[in-house]
Amino acid sequence: MTTSTYHLRCRECGKTFGNQPRSICEDCFSPLEITYDYDSLRPSLSHELFASRAPNIWRYRELLPLPEGYRPSLPVGFTPLVSAPRLGERIGSRRLLVKNDAVCLPTLSFKDRVVAVALANARSFGFDTVACSSTGNLANSVAAQAAREGLKAWIFIPSDLEPAKILGTQVFGAELVRINGSYDHVNRLCSQIADEHRWGFVNVNLRPYYAEGSKTVGYEIAEQLGWRLPDNVVVPMAGGSLITKIKKAFDELILLGLVDPKPVKLFGAQASGCSPISTAIKQYSSEIEPQRPKTIARSLAIGNPADGHYALQAITKSGGWSEDVSDPEVVSGIQLLAETEGIFTETAGGVTVGTALKLIQQDRILPDETTVLCITGNGLKTTDVLADKYQAEVPIAPKLAEFELYLASKAAALPAAAGETAAAVVGR
Ligand SMILES: *Cc1c(COP(=O)(O)O)cnc(C)c1O
Ligand SMILES: [Zn+2]
Repeated sequence: MTTSTYHLRCRECGKTFGNQPRSICEDCFSPLEITYDYDSLRPSLSHELFASRAPNIWRYRELLPLPEGYRPSLPVGFTPLVSAPRLGERIGSRRLLVKNDAVCLPTLSFKDRVVAVALANARSFGFDTVACSSTGNLANSVAAQAAREGLKAWIFIPSDLEPAKILGTQVFGAELVRINGSYDHVNRLCSQIADEHRWGFVNVNLRPYYAEGSKTVGYEIAEQLGWRLPDNVVVPMAGGSLITKIKKAFDELILLGLVDPKPVKLFGAQASGCSPISTAIKQYSSEIEPQRPKTIARSLAIGNPADGHYALQAITKSGGWSEDVSDPEVVSGIQLLAETEGIFTETAGGVTVGTALKLIQQDRILPDETTVLCITGNGLKTTDVLADKYQAEVPIAPKLAEFELYLASKAAALPAAAGETAAAVVGR
């Protein structure tokens, strides 16, 4: 192995493993993580350097585990960070922002970031087949990016995923295996398959490389705030990896002198029907009790979260908190974000919005603090949860008179005050 600025290191005993497809320490069975030689990186990194590069995750390439000479083939990430004043007014925040990974490319979720970094390494480790266990978005992203890279893809999912996420995997020509069981069953099976077949499982044997991709959410938030850190971030949690990597990104930027040191409170969001991390936090427990998931927020339905322990630690140490919301609150959250800011998110985004509202009501997030909501996936993938919310309109003839009648009938159906204005318009 050539000397590299990064390598695998055990999070608990510190043993190092160079660079290889491995995620667990052979001595103590703890997870491995990528660590960097920050001292050698520091002199070469600057705001100007990042700004001089194209707006995608590869502008932070020195802080990602990329093989020597790697040439990316897709512009992934650098999604908008937009102020959200109307949503803020409704939920009680004067400085609310949305990090909008509903429009992350190529497959409209933040998973495109982690897959891009994992696949960058799959090739250099000699894999011609990549694979994953997925709650949906990872499936879409691995299938798409494998197609782009000319790699074979095997995707393992629980059988009850949303139709759009299943179709949005098959269309890329991936092998899709539906498992009768929960994500946790699927994941256990994938660990066994990874021992038998020489496949690069992005979230099993390539997991430490995959996880680093999530840091780019944190780098982008800081850069888009003018190289400043926010007061709070609200992050949806499935396995708990994203929230810990956003924290790692902020810590690295401070360590490298790229932002001023500042405490950021981390807030984790889950669906009540699958809330192992938020439940532990709310009970002041340091143990995560696995759950059997039952929620419409399928992308977050991991009952035994791989990084739950580290997510819990990061949240607690930051002075943040975690909450969870019911399925009806998830749907209301989706509708509220859409109606106030014109952003259509999937169920995970509904979880984030609903959780943010709760945290503000609990005074854990204050109105004048800068608060970033991480919206991580696109609403077009989970339209089934809105099916009974909107009626199909009765069609009318393409005639002005028909439309005026239609408008009058609408006006009649509206509440008094609004009805008067509509009637006045009809009368003109
Ligand atoms: C996977 C996923 C998450 C959470 O990811 P973890 O890193 O496993 O906590 C959040 N939102 C969406 C839409 C996802 O697909
Ligand atoms: Zn170890």
